[in-house]
Amino acid sequence: MNVHAPPWPACSNVVQQRWYSSAAAAAAASSAQVSVVPCLKDNYAYVMHGGGVPVTVVDPGEAVPVERELARLGVAPEYVLLTHHHDDHVGGVTRIKEAHPNVKVVYCEADRDRMPVSADVAVSPSSTFALGDLQAEVIDTGGHTRHHVAFHIADAGVVFTGDALFVLGCGRLFEGTAEQMHESLARLAALPPKTRVYAGHEYSVANADFARAIDPKNAGLRARANQLRVLRSAGMPTLPTTIESERELNIFLRASEKEIADSVSKSVGEEVSDPVNVFAALRRLKDNA
Ligand SMILES: [Zn+2]
Repeated sequence: MNVHAPPWPACSNVVQQRWYSSAAAAAAASSAQVSVVPCLKDNYAYVMHGGGVPVTVVDPGEAVPVERELARLGVAPEYVLLTHHHDDHVGGVTRIKEAHPNVKVVYCEADRDRMPVSADVAVSPSSTFALGDLQAEVIDTGGHTRHHVAFHIADAGVVFTGDALFVLGCGRLFEGTAEQMHESLARLAALPPKTRVYAGHEYSVANADFARAIDPKNAGLRARANQLRVLRSAGMPTLPTTIESERELNIFLRASEKEIADSVSKSVGEEVSDPVNVFAALRRLKDNA
């Protein structure tokens, strides 16, 4: 982890115009559905569809399972959203673009040199873009990678968080600092509580085990851990979660709570109280768990 990385240039503002969804499109979008598509070992791609929302693929780690789901639904993709450049999130995009030449690929403009296809819609963090008749918000979630972004479609009540926020966990810091990731998670935590969260990996049970080691007396966490285990043993995905559930239970969003700080201090053998330092220590403990 490079904690002393120099500040990187912000993504340039390719899409600056603010854009608002029409009331009718917004109302319909609340009934949009999201298919969870397992890819590779433990990745999830997603297909958002229905409710007048354009058919939108998110983070296709491989093409075949995504194409199978599109065929099952009888739809063609209109957009592909990519949260970051890692292979397990973009591995299928070239084939999807070849099979559907009109599909619009959307990602952070600053990642253009390390993406396998060119962007049809190059976005910058903290901007919005038109996703069909809807407005989609690009949330700066740097930390796992420099230019990682999340996609929030408020009218559909969903956010796609890639490798920033997981059920009861968060992504590893490969290119960013603990402070940056802490801020990224705070941006996600500030979304409306009922927002459904679709993350990039099925790490929930391992995250729950780690969270319970840090916060063992939390009855809500115990109940949630049991629920996650039941889902997994039935072969079901544990996604989506909600912002509300993660704010309440995810220890990486609770670094400012005294109980978490005290537990972390005990684990590392020294007093840690500043929320960024608590978060950094939690992330290190999880990396070594
Ligand atoms: Zn990644």
